[in-house]
Amino acid sequence: MPRTFVSVLLPLALPWEPVYSTSDPSVRRGERVVVPIGTRLETGVVTGVGVPPGLDESKVKPVASIDRSLERVSEAELAFWEKVASYYLCCKGEVLKAAYPSSREEDEAREVLRRERLLERLRRREEALEKARKDSTRERYSSEIEAIKEELGEVPATLPEPLLPELSPAQQEAAAGIRAGWDNGLPVLLEGVTGSGKTEIYCSFAAAEVAAGRDVLYLVPEIGLTRQLEERLRAVFGSRLLTFHSHETPFRRRQVASLVRSGGGRVVLGTRSAVFLPFVNLSLVVVDEEQESSYKQDSPAPRYNGRDAAMLLAGIHGAHVLLGSATPSLESIYNVEIGRYAGVKLLQRYYSSPEPVVEVIDTAAETKKGGMVGSFSRKLIDAIVSTRQEGGQVLILRARRGYSPSVQCSECGTILRCPRCSVPLSYHSSGRLICHYCGHSEPFTGLCPECGAQLRLVGAGTQKIEDEAREIFPSETIDRLDSDAVSEKEIIRDFSSGKTGILIGTQMVSKGFDFGNLRLAAVLHADGLFSRPDFRSDEKAFQTLSQLKGRIGRRDAPSRFLIQTSQPEHPVIQALSVIPSEAKESPSPQEILSASGLGMTGESLYHKMLEERRAAGYPPYTREVCLWLRDRDAARLSASAATLYQNLRVLCAPSRGSASAGQAFTLFPPLAPPVGMVAGEHRLCIRIFLPKDSRLGASKRAILDAVRRFSRTSPTRVSIDVDPV
Ligand code: ADP
Ligand code: ZN
Repeated sequence: MPRTFVSVLLPLALPWEPVYSTSDPSVRRGERVVVPIGTRLETGVVTGVGVPPGLDESKVKPVASIDRSLERVSEAELAFWEKVASYYLCCKGEVLKAAYPSSREEDEAREVLRRERLLERLRRREEALEKARKDSTRERYSSEIEAIKEELGEVPATLPEPLLPELSPAQQEAAAGIRAGWDNGLPVLLEGVTGSGKTEIYCSFAAAEVAAGRDVLYLVPEIGLTRQLEERLRAVFGSRLLTFHSHETPFRRRQVASLVRSGGGRVVLGTRSAVFLPFVNLSLVVVDEEQESSYKQDSPAPRYNGRDAAMLLAGIHGAHVLLGSATPSLESIYNVEIGRYAGVKLLQRYYSSPEPVVEVIDTAAETKKGGMVGSFSRKLIDAIVSTRQEGGQVLILRARRGYSPSVQCSECGTILRCPRCSVPLSYHSSGRLICHYCGHSEPFTGLCPECGAQLRLVGAGTQKIEDEAREIFPSETIDRLDSDAVSEKEIIRDFSSGKTGILIGTQMVSKGFDFGNLRLAAVLHADGLFSRPDFRSDEKAFQTLSQLKGRIGRRDAPSRFLIQTSQPEHPVIQALSVIPSEAKESPSPQEILSASGLGMTGESLYHKMLEERRAAGYPPYTREVCLWLRDRDAARLSASAATLYQNLRVLCAPSRGSASAGQAFTLFPPLAPPVGMVAGEHRLCIRIFLPKDSRLGASKRAILDAVRRFSRTSPTRVSIDVDPV
């Protein structure tokens, strides 16, 4: 029997594609095959048919089966995986695994059964419809038939009438600018202040695409926060809207995938993993809140950024790209500056609501004057009282969850630390000490394990802030939203409906919500946001604070934004266009932010940050690749890191006696991150900054080779992170 040889991509971190044989000569690229690897079976994808050079045919194992009940993988998908793997320096198999997380047969079988049952129901309803006489009965059958067809993924014959509002003149102008950017073959960055109606613009472009039978990918950083958005899009796109996020079951993924594969005018609203759906007719990619670091996948590989992966995807399909944000990433601002993206600004809010009044409260000065009650300044308390008297709601951001961020001995000064991570344990109101890195938890005894003296709770997290607020405002309805909250949805619903007057929370509260009656937003201990040992600290702090500010001033009523900090002079605080509230009783014209883009000072902060990055050789002027080394044995870890560092240094040096120049990149010696140990594993990182020039691709490959060579013999685990955030 003649054998046909196939190369098979497996969902594993294998840097090569093993060859198998089959007796079926009709096997094609993209088909799914079940093959033996080691002692088990895996489902892979055929990437090539034929005998690769140097193949020892006697060693080739046969495939177990060709699974034709599974859809073939398209050329576009294969091309996309290839790009993602080569950009993020990982194995194509790891990308396959992200794209097809599981293909357990039972799951497939369930889907086939479900379709059969639906088709049977459809047939029976259609028969019944033919026989039915009464109008009301006919109507009922018709709508049941529509519903079944929708479940089967058939696009209704008629596009639900898009309920698009007309764009305002400013929005029309922005839309024209966006079209002009696309006409020049560029991705477009839409920089629009909160409330300017970016969503309406996305929708108007998306509606035009789906009406023409083409598909749209609409990416958001976190689906949980976008229920309001989903409702808005549902009203416009009806059954053409599909939602998709990282925690979907494989079953649901397959369902969405099969709808996407059938094309025909869909809008997929999803988080980053939606880029792996098998689009066939993709013509527009929207990336909302493009600066969000939650677009980045930390682990496992591929450690991709959904925004950037979406750009690669759009490139393959020839789709337009629209990135949107009120506070764009420095990366995107830079890309506009060098002409890689077109930039469009939308500086007018749709509703001409008054700009929030921004006030800074200097907590160091207040403490001296006795102006603080726990974590609250008297000024903030007054502002909360008057806002509530006027019927407005209040949102308070504190970036730390738990009751107290750390616990210290009042005698010997010992700070209680996680036994497995190099971070202090936080005290939670449940009476336990919890590690926010690995989840380790232990009961709080109140006594120092070193000297037996009393322990003292240091600092205030959201739980303590909540307690303080209940004491200061005993008659108020107060709630808390952080990742310890039991019922996120309910908390948001209660605040939306006005049942809750004051909501306290972590960054979760600053993102995406549109609470109509919100008149006061405040941030406590803002210093915690911008004093991190990371060159992106200011950028992130500015974005978080701007986002929180974006929650208010969305309606006609006047609103206030209060920042409590001990560093009122900090450039990030200045950039929010604030004047310490010390100075005056009532807001001056200066205190009322100009409605222009980031604000004058916002723009100058961006320029300052860009200048600092350029001088230091940091992104966006270079590309960063971070090598993470992990080991339970600290000594072995340092030795490994030293070796790998040395191997990489050799790459950098011009090689003597050979024509090839050395790779050009800046390499930093192994460094312990702020949290040097997590879950019992010690960590070191080697940071590499590569110039963005013609050598970039070759340098990245050289780094990958060096890491692979090193990993073959070293027990220390290494992972590669391209463009860490
Ligand atoms: P952004 O996404 O830029 O923050 P939104 O799209 O949420 O802004 O718009 C802010 C508010 O203005 C929303 O309530 C939205 O419905 C309304 N809005 C924006 N543009 C229009 C329009 N063209 N017609 C009617 N309402 C609009
Ligand atoms: Zn821990």
